[in-house]
Amino acid sequence: MSDSGNLPCLTCGACCKSYRVSFYWTEGLERGLPDGLTEQLTPHLSCMRGTNASRPYCIALGKGDAGPMACGVYAQRPQACREVEIGDEKCTRARGLHGLPAIPVPA
Ligand code: SF4
Ligand code: SF4
Repeated sequence: MSDSGNLPCLTCGACCKSYRVSFYWTEGLERGLPDGLTEQLTPHLSCMRGTNASRPYCIALGKGDAGPMACGVYAQRPQACREVEIGDEKCTRARGLHGLPAIPVPA
């Protein structure tokens, strides 16, 4: 999910229900992600709970106040989430998986 100032994300969330969101386990500690929102994948890797599934759906999706699909841990979200930008390849693929059109990259 891109910046919350980007309104399309607040009613979309497609990338948060398309990919496994994994990270080196210390990133969760460093960012202050609550343990209950993460899952251990391997001795060194964790992921956002709900994203290591055949139909991923991050546990934090829709838990924020900024919109219906706002991230509930926006300030603490892992780097993998921060790297998805509106209109990029991951965004476009995720939206396509959920029947949504691609968004043109903002000028
Ligand atoms: S798929 Fe794109 S528009 Fe939707 S939440 Fe992710 S970055 Fe935002
Ligand atoms: S932590 Fe937030 S931005 Fe990252 S996948 Fe979950 S809902 Fe989306």
